[in-house]
Amino acid sequence: MAGIIKECRQCGINFRTKTIKAGAWQAYCNPCFGARQESNAEKSIKKRQSHMFEALDDRIKRIEEKSQHMDMLVSAEISNALTNLSNNDLFNSVNDAMQKALEEKKKQIDADNKKFKDKIQKQLVMLNNKLVKIMQEMEK
Ligand SMILES: [Zn+2]
Repeated sequence: MAGIIKECRQCGINFRTKTIKAGAWQAYCNPCFGARQESNAEKSIKKRQSHMFEALDDRIKRIEEKSQHMDMLVSAEISNALTNLSNNDLFNSVNDAMQKALEEKKKQIDADNKKFKDKIQKQLVMLNNKLVKIMQEMEK
């Protein structure tokens, strides 16, 4: 077997390096080396996760800002329509602006409804699982 005997920097146990050349840089025995690789991988996953959460937070913030901006645009549009009116256009202009505002609201409500439905769906599945368990208990 090639290699030289060295003391592991982590656990202090003597181990044989893979080759004599590797003796120059190999500082850990195989188990310790493996464990360190693993914890490095864990660290990088955690780091990536926290980056993802940060990015998600940023995105939500931006969407919230945008939707506030949207509200302002809609009311600006309405007051714009109101000030630029000639008599004939009154109804149509206000109606258009209202229509736009309503469409925005509808989109928001649809999204909220979907969230609510998904939540209920999950709860139903959980309830169903519980019922099945109870029935199985009763059959014993
Ligand atoms: Zn070791």
